[in-house]
Amino acid sequence: MKFEKQFPEEITNIGDQGLSGEIEFKSLNQDSLLVNLKNLSCIINEICDRCSENYMRKVEIDGYSSRFVANEKIKNEEEESSEEEIFVINAKDETVDLEPMFIQAIRLEEPFVKLCKKCSEEVEKLSEL
Ligand SMILES: [Zn+2]
Repeated sequence: MKFEKQFPEEITNIGDQGLSGEIEFKSLNQDSLLVNLKNLSCIINEICDRCSENYMRKVEIDGYSSRFVANEKIKNEEEESSEEEIFVINAKDETVDLEPMFIQAIRLEEPFVKLCKKCSEEVEKLSEL
């Protein structure tokens, strides 16, 4: 299933095109669901750490997956035995809120230092000396 123009509320600096990609749901058992995100992409407006200019950073994530479980109790049990973050399926209407997952996928890809194109070229040149 493809999606486009998603705007996670917590990421306020996302570009006009929003977030796009593909999503796949796989039921693991009656209490848990595996959600795979593929080819996630978006543009994020960033401020360069070096020159403080605004620049656009393209984010591309080939694949990211998370597990969603039926309730908080299972989530807590599962998180004790694994490092991964687990999300909870909305019990009222059995939907999943993908926003926290999008945010996590994007945050994981966040560079340690944010540099605009000009600065990253300059830094690269300096490191070659
Ligand atoms: Zn810069």
